[in-house]
Parts: sequence; C-alpha cells; structure tokens
Amino acid sequence: MTNPLKPLVIGNWKMNLDFVEAVHLGQQIGVLLRHAPAEHTEVVVVPPFVDLRSVNSIVASERIPVGVGAQHVNPHDNGAHTGEVSATMLKRLGVEWVLVGHSERRAMYAMDDVVVAETLRAAVRNGLRAVLCVGEPQEVREDDGHDAYVASQLASALTGLDPKFHELVTVAYEPIWAIGTGLTASTEQVRAMTSHLRSTLARLGLKECRVLYGGSVNAENAASIVAEGLVDGFLVGGASLKAESFLAVVRACDDCYALMANRRS
Ligand code: PEP
Repeated sequence: MTNPLKPLVIGNWKMNLDFVEAVHLGQQIGVLLRHAPAEHTEVVVVPPFVDLRSVNSIVASERIPVGVGAQHVNPHDNGAHTGEVSATMLKRLGVEWVLVGHSERRAMYAMDDVVVAETLRAAVRNGLRAVLCVGEPQEVREDDGHDAYVASQLASALTGLDPKFHELVTVAYEPIWAIGTGLTASTEQVRAMTSHLRSTLARLGLKECRVLYGGSVNAENAASIVAEGLVDGFLVGGASLKAESFLAVVRACDDCYALMANRRS
C-alpha cells in the first residue's frame, strides 16, 4: 500500500450460506468488529441474492460497520430476463456494492467483455459502487501475456465511461489460476500487476481508483501481500466464510495503513 486511499476488504460468499447462516456470519463479524474496530479499513460483505435483505436488516438494526453488496447484476433495468436481478432492485434493497465480471461469471455464465461493460454502466448509472474484476487465465500468464490481457479487459469495460461515474469504480485483480486453488500470486507478481493496472487506469482517466487483489488470500498471507504488493485491499472468497479469518485479513490492511500513515506524518 503506497497511497492514501482507504483500504477496502470485500468478502465474496459466492453460492454459500442460506439466509439463516448468512445472518449468523454477519452477526459474528459484527461482534468481532465491536471488540476491535477496523479504524481505517472499509469492510463489505457480498452474500447470495436471497440473503441480501436479511443481511442488510441485521447490518442496519445492529449497526454493524460493513457495507453490503451483490455478486452480480443484470445490465437491463427490467423485462424478460428470467432468473436475473436488476440494479434498481438492488438499490431498493439498500444494497450499495456489486461485483462486475467476476471470473466465475465470465467463465461459467457467458459474460463476455461487452456484457461486462454494459453491466458496469448499468450498475454505476443506478448509483451502485462497482467492483470490476479482471485477471488472466494460467496459460496467458505462462505466455507472458497477462499485462496485455488485463489492460484489454480494463479498456473494454472503462473506455467511454462518463467520468462522473469514475469514483464509483474499484478494480479487483484476480488471476484466475489463484482463485479457490490455494495458489497465491507472489508479492512481486501482485506488485508488478498493481503498478501496471494503476498506469492503465490513469491512461483511461481513473487516477483515484482502488486496486484490490483476490486469489486465495487468507489470514496468513494478507499482511505480506498488502504491504509488498502495494494493493488497496482484497477481494476474499473462501477465507471470508469464517468471521475470524475474514477479520484477520481486515486487520492486516488496517495495520498496514496505520503504519504507512505514521511514516507519512
Ligand atoms: C474470489 O472468488 O473472488 C476469490 C478471490 O476466491 P478465493 O479467495 O477463495 O480464492
């Protein structure tokens, strides 16, 4: 972490936890945050659609200091899109965040770059804070094509986006080979990619955009990745399903930010 952007840690619960389990995890996170508040780090949880209303209710009623997001949104406002959910529906539920173009959606649900760009626009037009996920498959990394690959994903999603929406965009670099595999990108790989993403984003007009890393982040590796990888936080999958491991990742960001702030002063 080198810049003063407030760290952000997002827990992607994927297709796990029914609404009772989701409320329980939300409450556990609330208890841990009450005992040891995250002073510098913004925390967001991203449950399945069917849990959103229950999780948002306990977050509001128990004043749990986390934002709530959805894992996906359809680019259309309404209509014949069976099984889908629109940004206006999410807003009406009080949802603030949405993941856009997670690699699992791209790979398993035919979400190509065009649909990702449409989805991003629909999300921010409706005032949602969008987390644009980018990242290369293993074979692209082996061929040394990762920089060009993610630059093209960014350009396709962000070129022409009205600058008034830029502040609603966060980028998450998630190399596909590191998601759910236990393989983590090395701190050098994360640092090189973060710097490449920042310069690509600046060229596209987004100078103040947070860059997160995701891919098998856990309580053990978070501190070194945030300090040496120069990221602004994490998108966490597996380790976000337990309050203790999720909060350990939050804590690593908080401590790193405090250290950097002390050095700056
Ligand atoms: C993710 O799904 O965004 C993710 C990073 O998963 P995991 O942490 O389990 O690799």
